Formats: sequence, structure tokens, C-alpha cells
Amino acid sequence: MRSFRYAHPPSLAEATHLLAEGGAGTAVLAGGTDLIVALRQGRQAPRLVIDIKGVAELRPPISVGGGWMRISATTLMTALRDDRAIRESFPALAEAAAVVGSVQIRNRATLGGNICHASPAADTVPALLVYAAELELRSESGTRRIALEDFLVGPGQTALRPGELLTHVALRLPPLCPGAAFARLTRRRGVDLATINLACGMDGAGTTRLAYGAVGPRAFVVSDGTGVLADPRAAAADKEAILRQLLTRASPISDVRASQDYRAAMLRVLSLRTLRVCSDRLADATR
Ligand SMILES: Cc1cc2nc3c(=O)[nH]c(=O)nc-3n(C[C@H](O)[C@H](O)[C@H](O)COP(=O)(O)OP(=O)(O)OC[C@H]3O[C@@H](n4cnc5c(N)ncnc54)[C@H](O)[C@@H]3O)c2cc1C
Repeated sequence: MRSFRYAHPPSLAEATHLLAEGGAGTAVLAGGTDLIVALRQGRQAPRLVIDIKGVAELRPPISVGGGWMRISATTLMTALRDDRAIRESFPALAEAAAVVGSVQIRNRATLGGNICHASPAADTVPALLVYAAELELRSESGTRRIALEDFLVGPGQTALRPGELLTHVALRLPPLCPGAAFARLTRRRGVDLATINLACGMDGAGTTRLAYGAVGPRAFVVSDGTGVLADPRAAAADKEAILRQLLTRASPISDVRASQDYRAAMLRVLSLRTLRVCSDRLADATR
């Protein structure tokens, strides 16, 4: 690992000033579960590392007001998994956070890091896409807001501009999809990245949103407005026909985790399973 200067700013103003000053040779450090690995392997060699864990404006981790839940970028996976309001309103996000890495990883890894690392297999991203999350980005010149859907560009690539920091993730209240769930397939139970992951959400008007990770260069979200996917009595063949259409956006590859064919087959299986869970949850939510 090459040596670097370390800064631990107490405020957003100082953090964004350091970012602007440091330019391209700067890296933001949150939990470090991705960044430290990259530094050790020499994939990144910044001159300045800005640790944002002490930034006062990034507390509290979770707040509610004005029709939104705002989750700070430095909120830990453990906090997402355990927070009552998130479990009640955004269960797919709590379920995704609960499977990230191991206990140790979940106690370090942050939501902002999971998004900004831009891994196609990031577990929280499909859930956030289903809930149509918006991101608050801050730089010395101000704050801008962007849909997560527009933020994700490709593997390791985002719409983050030089000098910008992700500060909060905003989720609409009441949630867009009252019936929602997360699912993933891994080679083994325990610490493993997703072979495929997905989140599904249904509203009371028959619209179903499905978001998929690890089956393309970036996670993506698709939506069905026919009401068929949300109808628990609809024929499996009709659901499969719609899924086939929606999944034309998926471009699974063969790698150490699975073959292209296995991924494609499991996408269908996992989607159907998760649709059933969502229908049940929607029925519970509207009872
Ligand atoms: C053993 C192991 C197992 C793992 N298992 C999983 C898994 O099952 N599922 C999964 O999704 N991930 C997994 N990961 C990856 C990792 O833990 C997550 O991506 C984690 O959420 C990253 O968060 P962090 O706070 O550690 O990010 P960091 O490592 O601190 O940062 C990651 C990247 O994002 C940038 N960044 C961080 N915060 C911000 C911000 N607020 N604004 C702008 N840029 C920012 C950093 O500069 C860096 O480029 C695993 C990692 C390890 C080491």
C-alpha cells in the first residue's frame, strides 16, 4: 500500500473543501471494506484519503420528515437491518443489508459505500431501485439530487462528479411499493457475493417493479403495469411470458460464480418466488 495523507473532517464544508483541493488524487473513506482492499491491492493509490465517519451532518443515520425517509450515506448495514422504521416501510432494504458480507463487514460497511463502489452485485442497490431512491450529492458548489437509476453508470462507474460526496439516500413515504422483498442466490450460505440478486415491489394498483443485480454491467429496474405479475391467481405461464420480456435487459455472463445459462434460469425461478412473497406482503399491508 502506498502511503497517503489522512484527513478526518468534522463537517461537510471541510470534507467538500478537502475533496475540491485534493482533486483526482483523493479518495473518500467510509467503512473501508471496499476501499482498503483496493489500496492494499494497489488498484487505487490516492495521495489523500478523506474519512467521512466523523462528519456531523451525516448524523443521525436515519430521519423522517416532509414525506421522505433520509438515510445518511454513513449508515451501517447493521443499522439498516435493525431499524424498525426501515423494516416496516422498506423491508427489501433491511433484507438486503442483512446479507451483506459477515457480521464484521456489516458493522463497518455503509450504505453510501455500497452505492458508490458501483459493483453490479451490490446487494442494497436492487432494493433501492425498487423504491425509486434519490441521492443527495454535495460539493463545494452546493447540493444536487439525482435518481439512483441515473447515478449508476457501469461497473465501478457512477455519475458522481469530481469534488462530490454522497450524503443521503432519500426514500418516499409512504413507500412506493408496500409489498416488497429482496432475494439473492449465492454459491454457499455465508460470506459470498451474489450470483444474482433481486428486489421486487408491488403497489396496490397492480404495478410491479423488479430490480436485478449481477446480471449486467449495472443493476437495473423494470416495471409491469398489466397487473398480471401482481395477481396471485394469474397463471404461471402468463407471468413467465411477462418476465421473459422484462428480462431482455439482463445480460448474464459466465464466471466463477455461475454459468450464463444457470444465471438466466435462476433469474426466472427467483423472480417467481419473490413475486409470491410480495403478493403476500401486499395483501398483509392492505388488510
Ligand atoms: C469480505 C467481504 C464481503 C463482502 N460481501 C458483500 C456482500 O455480500 N454484498 C455486497 O453488496 N457487498 C459486499 N462487500 C462489499 C462491501 O462490503 C460493500 O460494498 C460496502 O457496503 C462498502 O461500504 P464501505 O463503507 O465499506 O465503503 P468504502 O470501502 O469506504 O468505499 C467504497 C467506495 O465508495 C466510495 N465512497 C464511500 N462512501 C462515499 C460517499 N459517501 N460519497 C462518495 N464516495 C463514497 C469510496 O471512495 C470507495 O471508492 C463485501 C466486502 C468484503 C471485504
